[in-house]
Amino acid sequence: MKLYNTMSKQKEEFVPLEEGKVKMYVCGPTVYNFIHIGNARPMIVFDTVRRYFEYKGYDVNFVSNFTDVDDKIIKKAIEEGVTAEEISKRYIAECKKDMDGMNIKPATKNPLATEEIGGMIDMIQTLIEKGYAYEKNGTVYYRTRKFKEYGKLSHKNLDDLQSGGRSLLVTGEDEKEDSLDFVLWKPKKEGEPAWESPWGEGRPGWHIECSEMSKKYLGEQIDIHAGGEDLVFPHHENEIAQSEAANGKEFAKYWLHNAFLNIDNRKMSKSLGNFFTVREISEQYDLQILRFFMLSAHYRSPLNFSADLMEAAKSGLDRIVTAAENLRFLKKNAKVESMSAAEEEAFSESGQYAESFEKAMDDDFNTADAIASVFELVKYANTTANVESSAEYLEALLGRLTALTDVLGIVVEKKEEVLDTEIEALIAERQAARKERNFARADEIRDTLLAKGIILEDTREGVKWKRA
Ligand code: AMP
Ligand code: ZN
Repeated sequence: MKLYNTMSKQKEEFVPLEEGKVKMYVCGPTVYNFIHIGNARPMIVFDTVRRYFEYKGYDVNFVSNFTDVDDKIIKKAIEEGVTAEEISKRYIAECKKDMDGMNIKPATKNPLATEEIGGMIDMIQTLIEKGYAYEKNGTVYYRTRKFKEYGKLSHKNLDDLQSGGRSLLVTGEDEKEDSLDFVLWKPKKEGEPAWESPWGEGRPGWHIECSEMSKKYLGEQIDIHAGGEDLVFPHHENEIAQSEAANGKEFAKYWLHNAFLNIDNRKMSKSLGNFFTVREISEQYDLQILRFFMLSAHYRSPLNFSADLMEAAKSGLDRIVTAAENLRFLKKNAKVESMSAAEEEAFSESGQYAESFEKAMDDDFNTADAIASVFELVKYANTTANVESSAEYLEALLGRLTALTDVLGIVVEKKEEVLDTEIEALIAERQAARKERNFARADEIRDTLLAKGIILEDTREGVKWKRA
């Protein structure tokens, strides 16, 4: 199995630190709003990576954090007049709902930065003791030039960084020994969440969070560290500098980064304002379709979001689900129990599609080609399975198909249909609630129906509904 390592800029054979085990850390989102579909890309991609390792028989310890203390969270809390904790708790819960909808397996552990402050302080202390960090007026900085390998992940040259860095110096940071130095601990500002530390009250810098949480839950050395490509520099570069200086060991063996999800060929981001939240997309599409769309491209290729591509993903997914439903239907009505000799041969022939699927996935998780193999298998199932087939053959084909779709995290069972009578009853209840001016309940019903893929329209002739 080969994976592309950002560190070596090459595909490398995967050799685990410990036989049969994978220790994997994926940088998670900062929780100050609903996640957008750009944030969903690393979630879907690295969940698929995890699933493939598990398919191959590895035991995967998968850790992904939530950054729950950050300027953006504090800003949002001030805007709403609530605590930062309330904001982060709310959006962690919402994020988990979205992840569930995208069929992302729960991590072995989702550490929260605010619950790991003690460990971060210890790590900063170690860095100070080893001469890699220093304190100035309540701020602790990392002494970047002291770490001789700085720049090895992002392939940046320190002197180039220096000349760019000087002009980027923000006021108040001129106390730094060097413009390349970055913050490990910052002093409290009025009204902000803060923790006691040997350097006074304050909070940790973003980079130290991941160094500490990765160490605590996975150990000083891990197999894979992953995230979006914007994290290569400075976030991951700084994590390496911190972890390797503190622990005296190579931090991660393989560094994996997904390319961006774009819209109109521009990066989708909150700051540009050109984004869709996962929640918005879920109002139009089953999130399985979003997942399938994301996997239709290689994770290191930029992917442009468009309605056309989502429609293509929808019909592609539908083809797979229909084939699986067909196999189930035929099996239920099969007249013969056991496989014939010819069927045994046919089944063994279908093994070539599982092989080509694995070959694609073994080549740096080429999900685009892997999906092509699934389509081949679907075609094979559609042409060889019929009313004459034995139950055993149909079951075996279905098993082969679902083993592959499970790796992609795609569920090939039709969602249970919501009955029209159920919908009508809820609409009637909503009308009654509105009459009583209980708009909260009315909105709640609208949301419940939306979650089931039912869209309501208030028209002059009354309430109309349609399926998304
Ligand atoms: P953030 O909350 O901004 O720290 O982002 C969380 C994760 O989403 C990181 O791994 C980012 O690299 C990733 N990410 C953010 N925007 C995009 C995008 N448009 N396409 C792909 N990944 C993204
Ligand atoms: Zn991180």
